[in-house]
Amino acid sequence: MQPAAPSVSRRLLARLRDVMAGSGSAQERLDKVVTLIAADMVAEVCSCYVLRAGEVLELFATEGLKKSAVHKTRLRVGEGLVGDIAAHARPLALADAQAHPHFAYRPETGEEIYHSLMGVPIIRGGRVVGVVVVQNRTMRHYTDEEIETLETVAMVLAELVASGELVKRDEQVAVDGNALLPLRVEGIRLNGGVGVGVAVLHQRRVTIRRLVAEDPEVELARLRTALTGIKTAIDELFARPELRDGEHRDVLETYRMFTEDKGWLARIGEAIRTGLTAEAAVQKVHDDTRARMSQITDPYLRERLHDFEDLANRLLQHLSGDEGLARGELPDNSVLIARTMGPMELFDYDPKCLRGLVLEEGTPTMHVAIVARAMDIPVVGRAKEVLDKIEPFDSIVVDGDNAQVFIRPPEDIRESFIQAIGLREQRIAGYAKLRDVPAVTTDGVSVGIHMNAGLLLDLQHLHDSGADGIGLYRTELPFMARSSLPDVAAQTLLYRKILDQADGKPVVFRSLDVGGDKVLPYWNPYEEDNPALGWRSIRITLDRPAVMRHQLRALLRAAAGRELRIMFPMIAEVNELIQARRILDIEVEHERQAGHPLPEKLLVGTMLEVPALAFQLDALLPRVDFISIGSNDLAQFLFAVDRGNPRISERYDPLAPAMVSFIRRVAHRCRDTGVSLSVCGEMAGRPLEAMALIAAGVRCLSLSAPSVGPIKSMVRSLDVAATAAYLDRLLELPDRSLRDKLKCFALDHGVVL
Ligand code: PEP
Ligand code: MG
Repeated sequence: MQPAAPSVSRRLLARLRDVMAGSGSAQERLDKVVTLIAADMVAEVCSCYVLRAGEVLELFATEGLKKSAVHKTRLRVGEGLVGDIAAHARPLALADAQAHPHFAYRPETGEEIYHSLMGVPIIRGGRVVGVVVVQNRTMRHYTDEEIETLETVAMVLAELVASGELVKRDEQVAVDGNALLPLRVEGIRLNGGVGVGVAVLHQRRVTIRRLVAEDPEVELARLRTALTGIKTAIDELFARPELRDGEHRDVLETYRMFTEDKGWLARIGEAIRTGLTAEAAVQKVHDDTRARMSQITDPYLRERLHDFEDLANRLLQHLSGDEGLARGELPDNSVLIARTMGPMELFDYDPKCLRGLVLEEGTPTMHVAIVARAMDIPVVGRAKEVLDKIEPFDSIVVDGDNAQVFIRPPEDIRESFIQAIGLREQRIAGYAKLRDVPAVTTDGVSVGIHMNAGLLLDLQHLHDSGADGIGLYRTELPFMARSSLPDVAAQTLLYRKILDQADGKPVVFRSLDVGGDKVLPYWNPYEEDNPALGWRSIRITLDRPAVMRHQLRALLRAAAGRELRIMFPMIAEVNELIQARRILDIEVEHERQAGHPLPEKLLVGTMLEVPALAFQLDALLPRVDFISIGSNDLAQFLFAVDRGNPRISERYDPLAPAMVSFIRRVAHRCRDTGVSLSVCGEMAGRPLEAMALIAAGVRCLSLSAPSVGPIKSMVRSLDVAATAAYLDRLLELPDRSLRDKLKCFALDHGVVL
């Protein structure tokens, strides 16, 4: 791209500033603006289209086209060249526009005499709110520099559109009806529980009041000061006692690296040199990147985009002196609303004030969901366009259990949720009393209740929940949080801390389970049509044995003199387990020869989440000390249903006869051969599902910390023999789910759900 010529756009920007600050209605100012642009850019036409409700672009002002077309000519997003610019949020510059296949001729405008066209989207907060176009009679070749100028002008127009004077604000937002009516939005459950409170918009849009700068050098200096401010803030976070340990440090490190990204800083510098203020330049680069990258589906790039977005927002806050809500001022019943969020950002808020989190994006395995789960905050993800529907301090109910959000709910709905929370709190107080009582059924069957963990932060719940141990430690999270593979020493340190904090309770470490939707930032993911069925988990670590060896070495060292339990994920055939064990044997030998102390006891197990493995139990069982069923992936593969696809992820019920029979068969074989079996997917943490699992013969469950109490209380009210006898009768039924029948049984037999 050619370097921008500051003088051209600076002159234009200065004139635009005068018009914007001048008198007259918004329409009058817009009329003046298009005339100015046409003159300055030596174009016969300059037109401004504004997005109206229903995805329609309406001609709002023009210099050069017939004035009678203003407010009459309308194009759908995607229709014609203007619609194309809006649909793809990208500029178009065509010497012969009429030859373009998307050209849509509108006779009322009289545009047939103009051959060339250049248009750019008007973007506000990452969304297209209009299009500005210039046209010339001749077949003019517009330069990159001219596109840049028009893009800068579009920023000014964005402010005019956002002012709400041209098109009312409630028309600008894509709401279902009037924005002030109560709304219910559905999403996906990222963490259960209910929260009632007021909306706090995370990354509130900072209002930029000054767009045009007098002196670029001053702006560059302001940018540098703001960046230093952010780095200092990161250092302060590093120093916070609660963040002294753990994966958070790696997340922060990566984040700090972004503040030094040369390409990004250079683009902001360039924008400042065209005459923008530092904050306007940050906003411009941010909007451009966001709009152009919004179509990208690659999860790695999207994650990076989130980091840059977060950074841009912080930078804007620093530059505008708007530091957001300080911890102290946060309402004590805050529900955070965000498009997406990094896990660190949650720590910006006082957890005592957080009642819930609503995200426009999100997957169950995203970091922030995992951290929120550890903090017991209800989370609903994929709540479409909530940011457009919610105003700060709107009343909000987050119903994580049912994956729904109520915006400005009527008083009776709000009240009933408040009551539900009260009841839940009473139950939680009841669970606390259960902490030290054993999980034994009414007919004397003992059930192991373990906890799933993935962050050091989770460990604190091991003792206060009364769980028997960690049944699944997901080791991938520290790998995902870093900017590079952690080395043996770093891993040893982490695993040792985990074992220290577990204080003698057993911990099952699962070897690295990445791929699919768990992407490592430093490994270029392969383009795969079906990542869930792709190169993931044990397939990666067997193909990259050095990674596996380093992890196993670190685990052996961390557990020196203690018991070590290792579990391999996604094993589809016994041969894979044999290969993994062979690598473990090599490492044990390596450690022995190096004279390092070894674990006092080594137990090796496999996850059973690929159905094929269940057809090799004869070969498998003698080779393992334990098996853990990963019901999340098992359901995905058993029903051939993508667990991350909200359209179908609920289509089949884990309480379907097929799934329960499958697990029952495995449980009985394990019992007969003395191999211990647990279930560690989401299923294990839901009382009704856990009841079915126990009835099917499972004697150990591993679940998230907040589920320990409810599951223990269910176990203590359960008669296993009677439930198993009932379940056996159901398994041959053709029903799609046993849920209703099991629920009735539980109610009739006093099982606490
Ligand atoms: C599972 O698949 O059930 C499981 C516990 O593993 P993850 O959710 O980490 O894939
Ligand atoms: Mg799994």
